[in-house]
Amino acid sequence: MQDHQTNSATTLRLILGDQLNPQHSWFAHQHEDVVYIMLEMRQETDYVLHHAQKIIAIFAGMRELARQLTADGHRVHYLSIDDPANQQSLPANLDHLLRQYQAREFGYQSPDEWRLEQQMADYGQHLRQQKITCHMVDSEHFYTDTQEAATLFSGRKKWLMEHFYRHMRVKHQVFMEDNKPVGGQWNYDHDNRQSWPGTPAEPPDTRHQHDHTVLWKTIQDAGVMSFGNPNAAQFSWPLNRAQALDQLDEFILHGLPHFGQFQDAMSSKAWRLFHSLLSFALNTKMLNPREVVSKVQAAWCAGLVPLAAAEGYIRQILGWREYIRGIYWHHMPGYAEHNLFAHTAPLPAWFWSGDTKMRCLSTAIGQSLQHAHSHHIHRLMVIGNFALLAGLDPAALHRWYLGVYIDAFEWVELPNTIGMSQYADGGLLATKPYVSSAAYIDRMSDYCKGCHYNKKLRIGENACPFNALYWDFFARNAATLSSNPRIGMVYPQLRKMEAAALQALQAQAAGLRARLDDL
Ligand code: FAD
Ligand code: SF4
Repeated sequence: MQDHQTNSATTLRLILGDQLNPQHSWFAHQHEDVVYIMLEMRQETDYVLHHAQKIIAIFAGMRELARQLTADGHRVHYLSIDDPANQQSLPANLDHLLRQYQAREFGYQSPDEWRLEQQMADYGQHLRQQKITCHMVDSEHFYTDTQEAATLFSGRKKWLMEHFYRHMRVKHQVFMEDNKPVGGQWNYDHDNRQSWPGTPAEPPDTRHQHDHTVLWKTIQDAGVMSFGNPNAAQFSWPLNRAQALDQLDEFILHGLPHFGQFQDAMSSKAWRLFHSLLSFALNTKMLNPREVVSKVQAAWCAGLVPLAAAEGYIRQILGWREYIRGIYWHHMPGYAEHNLFAHTAPLPAWFWSGDTKMRCLSTAIGQSLQHAHSHHIHRLMVIGNFALLAGLDPAALHRWYLGVYIDAFEWVELPNTIGMSQYADGGLLATKPYVSSAAYIDRMSDYCKGCHYNKKLRIGENACPFNALYWDFFARNAATLSSNPRIGMVYPQLRKMEAAALQALQAQAAGLRARLDDL
C-alpha cells in the first residue's frame, strides 16, 4: 500500500508493529501534510527466531490498520517485506522516505522495547543534525509511565507486586469503595488455584478465523526464517480492534466466571481452559488495558462473574502487567545478562519439536509450537521449572520465549523469564525460585497419569526427572538459597536426608543433565 496522493509531506509519523491502536489521538483528525509510515522489516523478523504465527499476526494486523487508516482518509505509506524499495532496516527506510517526501518533521510513538527506544533516540540525533524536527509522543496505552514503579519502590530492596497493585487500585480507583477494596479484601487468591476436574467445560473457541495463506507465502518467499505451525489457513489471532473486542466480550461471558478458580490448572484435554488469550491484542495495543479492566468491573457489578474471578483477572492487568513493565525499564539495559546460578546448558532439541517423553513438557511445548501460546502455568511451572532445575542457559531460554509466544515483546517477556521464572536476577522480582517436583505438576494436571516416567520415583530409568533435579537444585544452591524464609521445608528436609540418599539423587540428576536431549 503506497501513498499516491502527492510525493511530498511536511510530516512523517512512524507506526511500529506493536502500535496497532486505531484510537490513538494521532488519528483523531486527517492531515493533508502527514503521512503514516508502516514498515515490515527483516530487522524486526530476525532479531530472534520467531514462531510463524507471530510474524503472520503482526504483519496481518499492520496491513489491516493501514487499510483502516486509508479508508478513514489518512495518508499511509506501507512497505511490505517483499517491496524492492524496502531496505529492511528502520533507519535506512526512514532516511529514504524522509528524502522521498522532503519531510521536515518526524514523529513516533514511544517504543515499548529498550532496543527500539535506543535505535529511535539515536535516529532522532541523526535527524536533528539534518535540521529535521523529531518528536516522540506517548503510545497512550499503559496506566503507568516507564519510571512509575521505580519511583514507588525507591529506596526499597524488594519490589513487592502486592504493594504496587494496591497503589494502582487506589490511584485508579479500581474495585474500590470508600477508599477500601471492594468486598473488604485486596486479594482473593486463596479462592483460586484449583485443578480442573473436567467440568465446567472449556468454552468453545469463538475467535474470528481468517485465511493468511497468501501473506504466509510472501513471508516465506522473502526468506524469513521461523518455526512452529503457521496455521495460515485458519488463523485465529485477532486482526483488528473489532475482533479483539469480540474476543474480550466472549471471554467475559464464558471464560471469566471460572478464570480465578482454574487459573493455575493444566489439562491435556483443554489447552485454553478459562484463559482470555487477550495478551496479543493487549500487547499490540488493539485493546487498551483500561477498557478491559472496566468491562470486567462492570461484569462483576452486573452479577455475571464472582468477585474472586474479577479481582483475579484485574490483578493480572492492572497489577502484574504494569509492574513487569516497571521492572523492565528500571533494569534495562543489562537485565538479560543476569545468571545468578551460572547456568550454561543449551536448550534440548525438543524445545523446537515437543518430542520428549516427559508428558508435561511435550504438552506445554507442543501447544506452544501449535498455537504460539501456552498459558502462564505452563510457561512458569512446566517449561521454566524444568529449565531452572536442569540448569539451562537463561539467555538462550529468553530468546526461545521471545520467539515462540504470540504475545512476546521484550518488555514483558524478559522480566517474566529472567526474573520470575529463572530467578536469574537474584530475586529482584520473585521472592523465591518457582520450582517443583512432580508432586505439584501432578496435583494441577492430568499429565503424570499417562507419562512414560513415574511421578513417585526419584531414582532409576523411569523416575520422573523433575524429582531428582529438584532436590539436586536446592542441594547445589544451598549457599544462595538456604537462608530464604519463603523456601519453607526444603532445607530442613535436605538436612534430614541420609548422605547416601542425597548422593544417589545427585548422581541421578547429573546423569539426567548429561542427556537432556534424550529425556
Ligand atoms: P490470562 O491468563 O487470560 O491473563 C490475562 C492477562 O493478564 C494477560 O493477557 C496478560 O496481559 C496479563 N498478565 C498475566 N500475567 C502476567 C505476567 N506475569 N506479566 C505480564 N502480564 C501478565 N506475557 C506476555 O504478555 N508476553 C510474554 O512474552 C510473556 N512471557 C512470559 C514468560 C514466562 C516465562 C512467564 C512465566 C510468563 C510470561 N507472560 C508473558 C505472562 C503470562 O504467561 C501471559 O501474559 C499469559 O499467559 C497470556 O495469556 P492470556 O492472555 O490468556 O492470559
Ligand atoms: Fe512431567 Fe514427571 Fe509428571 Fe511425567 S511424571 S508428566 S515428567 S511431572
